[in-house]
Order: sequence, then structure tokens, then C-alpha cells
Amino acid sequence: MPNAAFTADADAQIAQLKADRVYKRLNHLEAPQGARTRMEGRGEVIVLSSNNYLGLANHPAVVDAGIDALRQYGAGTASVRFICGTFTLHRTLETELADLVGTEASLSYVSAWNANEAFTPTHAGPDDVVLSDELNHASIIDSIRLAKSITKCQTGVYKHGDLDDLRAKLDAAKGARRRFIWTDGVFSMEGSIAKLPEILELARQYDAVVIMDDSHATGVLGATGRGTAEHFGVVGEVDVITSTLGKALGGAAGGFVAGAESVVDLLTQRSRPQLFSNALPPTVAASSLAAVRVLRAEPARVQRLRENAAWFRSAIREAGFAPLDGETPIVPIIVGETALAIRMSELLLDEGVFVTGFGFPVVPKGQARVRCQVSADHTRDDLEQVVRAFQVAGRKAGLLR
Ligand SMILES: *Cc1c(COP(=O)(O)O)cnc(C)c1O
Repeated sequence: MPNAAFTADADAQIAQLKADRVYKRLNHLEAPQGARTRMEGRGEVIVLSSNNYLGLANHPAVVDAGIDALRQYGAGTASVRFICGTFTLHRTLETELADLVGTEASLSYVSAWNANEAFTPTHAGPDDVVLSDELNHASIIDSIRLAKSITKCQTGVYKHGDLDDLRAKLDAAKGARRRFIWTDGVFSMEGSIAKLPEILELARQYDAVVIMDDSHATGVLGATGRGTAEHFGVVGEVDVITSTLGKALGGAAGGFVAGAESVVDLLTQRSRPQLFSNALPPTVAASSLAAVRVLRAEPARVQRLRENAAWFRSAIREAGFAPLDGETPIVPIIVGETALAIRMSELLLDEGVFVTGFGFPVVPKGQARVRCQVSADHTRDDLEQVVRAFQVAGRKAGLLR
């Protein structure tokens, strides 16, 4: 018999989430991610809520590479890599990922979550200080919490993008053996870009190590999609870059840590998600590798993504909405109250546009938003239809006259 009190408690928590109107209902899709997909009970919808920035999730080369790898390597390593062997495919992927982001080496994990969680506990010790931007991704926060509890490293949080606060915290950490600065490359709720050149300058002044999670920037920022470092012309200057394979690079799953050869090798030697968990499935590794190769062969995709994002930002502003300024394909449209953000996403779905509303506590109170994400795969027709849908939904929701 299952424990009845345990189940009853879970029932009560779920009921409370529904009463508080923060219960997440999942939308089920019947077709691949793309500019358009098919949603159960809704039919065709335009996807404006996906990290499939380059449209590679269903690209023929990406799909075929996964199928071929399944045939060549089978389903997986059936164990952790250092025990049962690893596939040559993973080595190729890791070499090409390192080359893409501009480091000596990289190591893949089954998710960027795992990659981030691997890094801090492996590299930060009791005499070190780890500083984190307050808006960093949850996986970075948890990585630092884990390191703190395992290795007793010191930790600190600096105000979002606030270089003076970062400088003060680095200054206070002068006596530490080593200072680490963790930052997102692109902050996903704002669509804003880290002030990387300034962070690197501070790191030089204070002899610190910079670790940047480029999950929303890989394949997106820079002339050829190499990420935030390319955007600022500082490829090769960031100590460590982590990123996901689950967004622009095919969208399946997986992540990696990239950096100097020995820094990465220490992760192979010591990081627990590597030592005690399976490798990326070959299907996923091969699809990601194909995505990297498409990106490198077709930098015009990155250009198209940029043009689509710029067009959409200005069109939605002309339509009477208030998108946050920015240069990324993440276009948050602030509507105010959480209920309004949720209402907007429901009304948009009625108009055939799939986009998610975010409210407190994911974003600050009063700054609830509908977060649009543009893809290179959207046609101008797609985006024009989205703008019209926003006008209809905005009038119904009382946001527009
Ligand atoms: C999406 C995301 C992750 C998690 O990526 P997974 O590979 O899905 O685990 C980590 N960090 C950032 C900044 C992200 O945006």
C-alpha cells in the first residue's frame, strides 16, 4: 500500500497551487518543434515560446544524424564513460564544441544543468569565494549551493549586472585563494546580455576566474553564433564557458563545460555527474554535432535570427506594446500583473500563437510578462500573424484600445 498521508499531502499542495493560480498546465504537442507545430486540441499554432532559435530541432541533417548514430552505436554506453568506455562520437562532439566557443577542450553532460552542477563543487575549495549575479539561472545557483555544502567554499551574490557591487565583493574577497565569477551570457527573463568586457576587466584586476553560462547565446549571439564572447569580440578570453545542447544546437538535450584542457580534464576525473551518471545518448550527441556543423556552414541563419528579432521588436512596439529593449531574440513584453500575463497567453493561444506568460515569483511583482522568442525559422508571414494576434488579444485583455 502506498503511504496515504504522503499522497494526501501532495494532493493538498497541488490543490493549493491551483487555488493560487500558479499551477502549470502542460501543452501537449503532436508534431516537432518548428516555426509552427500542432498542439493537441488546438491544431496548428505558431511557436513563439521555444529556444529552437535556429530552427534546427527538426532539421533533416540533425534528425538523420541521430538515426544513423543509433544504428552505428546503439542506444548508449550502458554505464558511466570511465567504466564502460566512451564513444569516439563524444570525443568528436567535444572537440567541435570547444572549437565553436573558442576554448582548448570541452566535456559533455546529459544536460547543461548537470554541466553547471559539476563545475563549482569540482573547482571551488574552502579557501575560495564564488560570486554570482542575482539573476543567474537556477542551475548555477544550485551548483554554488552544492559546492558550499560539499567543499565549504565562500559564496556571494552581486546585484544584477552591477559592476560596482561586483567590484566591492571582489575587493572583500581579496584574501581568498581564488575568486570565481559566475554569470549567464544572456539572461533569459530579460533577454539582456552580460557586460562581459567589463566583467573580464574586473577579473583581470582582481585575479578572478570567469565562468559564463552561454545557454541562450550559443548559436544566437555573435556574427557566426559563437556566443556572447564573439558578440563582444573577446573569443578566447573567458576562462570557462558552459552551455546547453537543448536550445539552439538541436534542442534535444545535453550540455557541456568548455575551458582549458586540464580544467576540463579535472571534471572528467572528479565531477560527480560525470563519474556516476551515463553519457549523452549517441542519438543526441550525433544530432547536436550535426547542429554545430549546420551552424558553422550556414552563418546566414544567425543573421536571419537577428533580423527577425529586430523586425518583431519594432513591429510589436508599433502595435502599441512595450517590449524590453535588447539585441537578443528574447522579447519580453511587460504587461504588469501576473493574471494579465496568463490571460494574454490564453487569448494568444485562441489566436493560434503559443507563447508563455511569466509572473511573480519568476519575475519581480508588477513586471509580469509575455516572453516571446523569435526563431530564424519564422517567416515574415508568421511574425505578421503574431503581431495581429497580439493586437486582438491585447484589445480583449484591455491592454490596447
Ligand atoms: C536552459 C538553461 C539551462 C539548462 O539547460 P539544460 O541543458 O536543459 O539542462 C542552464 N542554464 C541556462 C542559462 C539556461 O538557459
